Amino acid sequence: MSAVAIKGWCPGALRPMLSGDGLVVRVRPHGGRLDARQGADIADLAECYGNGLIDLTTRANIQIRGVSNDGYLPLLDGLAQSGFLDPDPETEGRRNVLVTPFWCTGDGTCSLAAELERALTDSVLDLPAKFGFAIDDGKARVLATASADVRIERDLEGELIVRADGAEFGRSVARSDAVTLALALAEWFIASGGAGSGRGRMAAHIRSGVRLPEALRGDAEPARARAASLPGLYSQGVLVGAVFGQLTHSTLRDLAGRAQAFRTTPWRMMLAEGLREIPQSPDLVVRPDDPALRIVACSGAPRCRDAHAETRPLAAALAPHIAPGARLHVSGCAKGCAHSGSASITLVATRDGFDLIRDGSTRDMPVRHNLSGASIIEDPSVLARMR
Ligand code: SF4
Repeated sequence: MSAVAIKGWCPGALRPMLSGDGLVVRVRPHGGRLDARQGADIADLAECYGNGLIDLTTRANIQIRGVSNDGYLPLLDGLAQSGFLDPDPETEGRRNVLVTPFWCTGDGTCSLAAELERALTDSVLDLPAKFGFAIDDGKARVLATASADVRIERDLEGELIVRADGAEFGRSVARSDAVTLALALAEWFIASGGAGSGRGRMAAHIRSGVRLPEALRGDAEPARARAASLPGLYSQGVLVGAVFGQLTHSTLRDLAGRAQAFRTTPWRMMLAEGLREIPQSPDLVVRPDDPALRIVACSGAPRCRDAHAETRPLAAALAPHIAPGARLHVSGCAKGCAHSGSASITLVATRDGFDLIRDGSTRDMPVRHNLSGASIIEDPSVLARMR
């Protein structure tokens, strides 16, 4: 293990994070896509060197969990052979690119993603860990609510624009200039002190009143944002979710035997390319009305060392009581790793029980304290009474 730096958060393959169930190794598939062989490789590596569990993250990455110290270096070898590794941790950290999963062959999205990744690999930009890019260049935007700081999108007329997150409008751009402008926005962010402001994010920087320079500003209104993407059949394949964003190695291997490739998404789902039949497995979410889509829960105890309680059994027990359109977030501590935003109901484990927050996040003021998980399961109307 001495060959690698272990950070306390934001793991990569080259910077694993130590969790309660061992090392978490995050893989960033190039262009948000892995072919079927790579999918099977991830399944094999998770079974061989991890605890067999695979996370789909909200940054459209894949995490292999429960890796032992002894298993880490052989796992890295396997990832290198499958074409997943970057040359160094800095490059890996910079290559933070979300790609719409709804691209079609020849529409230019993949080449744009490859060009952006190459430019980030070649650059020396020292960006904050969470700083990222989104390529959301379909007719309607699907990544509008996903975390990104620089966005390549289309305007209302269908022309390409580059927009700083937090800015109302983007700058119209020729296809050949899109990546250059995206990197120029990132360079401006650093040069204008954005890395030190707020949480080192573009939208916070712009909200603080810093004005984009003329060359990076535009007046093009982004295309409309599409409603949330739900599991089901699409022309590109089947969008499948994972219960709590987690798959077993055997489920992934089974899918890899049937799909041509996987496109990752920030919704804890993957688009199984070319699949025309809805797969069935207890750890998959395949129906748009599945109650599992209404709940979010972090790893919790015993997998996370910071957790004050188990989270997923409680969330699963409460799922049927959550109204369609509402969301329950159960967090093992106030850090809120699984969901940084607001939820209809947030339960945060503390040393003394669960705090209940209504229409807020783990950082907001609770309306109830010290609830026991068992009492909430016994009388889930405590959730409704607070609404
Ligand atoms: S929110 Fe807290 S308990 Fe949950 S995974 Fe993050 S650090 Fe662990």
